[in-house]
Amino acid sequence: MRVLFGSGRLAHLPDEVDRLGLRRVLVLCTPGRRELGQRAAELLGDAAIGVFDGARMHVPVDVAEAGVAEARRLDADGCVAIGGGSTIGLAKAIARDTGLPSVCVPTTYSGSEMTPVWGLTEDGDKRTGRDPVVLPRSVVYDPELTVGLAAHTSAASGVNALAHAVEALYAPDVSPVIALLAEEAARSLASALPAVVRAPADVTGRALALRGAWLAGACLGATTMSLHHKLCHVLGGLLDLPHAETHTVVLPHVAAFNLEAAPRAAAALRRALGADDPARALYELNRMLELPSSLAELGVARADLSAAADAVLARPYINPRQADRDAVLGLLQNAWAGTVPNAAAEPLPAVAAISTRSI
Ligand code: NAD
Repeated sequence: MRVLFGSGRLAHLPDEVDRLGLRRVLVLCTPGRRELGQRAAELLGDAAIGVFDGARMHVPVDVAEAGVAEARRLDADGCVAIGGGSTIGLAKAIARDTGLPSVCVPTTYSGSEMTPVWGLTEDGDKRTGRDPVVLPRSVVYDPELTVGLAAHTSAASGVNALAHAVEALYAPDVSPVIALLAEEAARSLASALPAVVRAPADVTGRALALRGAWLAGACLGATTMSLHHKLCHVLGGLLDLPHAETHTVVLPHVAAFNLEAAPRAAAALRRALGADDPARALYELNRMLELPSSLAELGVARADLSAAADAVLARPYINPRQADRDAVLGLLQNAWAGTVPNAAAEPLPAVAAISTRSI
């Protein structure tokens, strides 16, 4: 798709809508970002026929239905999604039902705008699929729109993007070009995120992080994700955990386990992160960004880990290293306790000591 990138690029949104021949777009946003949705609508002038501010995390089916109904009621010929993965997810749900094209203006690091993957949640169960019709026609990245994203949310969203890059590097369908994008995504994000957390209003750091998120999203869209995404999907669905924080906690542990069996990915990450032990570097990055480093901190009870391991193993998934139940459980126990990641995925003795930490 077309991509515009740079400070102040939001001003070009009307041109992007016009290029697609759209005359009646519905602007989508979350309730908290109504003002931004309104700003986009004002920029679009007569080409915007309404603002729908009902976007919610993980696209609940009722939200998708309300969005589709509003687009039909207003006889919209397209959507403009301005916001994070939740808002872009709503544009995708509307496109899937109606075929309406979208222009996306991402304001977080989710990377969803670069993928043909849609997601819908019903009764706590998240369904996902791929459909080219949901891929945005044009994406406008404007780092200035991200300066208001809180430091913690930025860091968690950014490490979530890093997870896309890590798993792309050892994906069964990674190509040489996607491997380059993934390595560069990891490099950009790992160097930008500490700067973003130190100075959230600095557009230079924001631009580098957004560039990393763009690259990571492109990798996510082009490859099949492995154990890490499977684990996070299961944990999120089973225990209703925060999406990005779950990724940040789990990533170093899966990286330690999988990189043993993926030497090229390990070498790429050593270069990108400037560290001999990429899993350890990811663990340290979390600490530097003051992100949660254990599932216990997210409110998970140790007793829940066994059910999570069973759910992971219940459905087949792709992974560079075979993970039996002991390995998955060991990995989860380490992630729960927040210990230093280890490739054997054996729970470290420290688990017993740390398990007394309050939840
Ligand atoms: P989000 O879109 O829910 O945004 C989090 C919160 O931050 C919201 O309240 C939002 O209004 C607010 N916000 C967004 N941008 C802001 C800004 N610049 N300043 C201040 N506040 C801002 O969260 P997210 O992490 O962007 O997206 C997560 C969702 O995206 C999940 O549902 C995930 O499954 C999905 N996702 C999908 C794909 C895909 O390819 N389909 C890829 C990644 C993530």
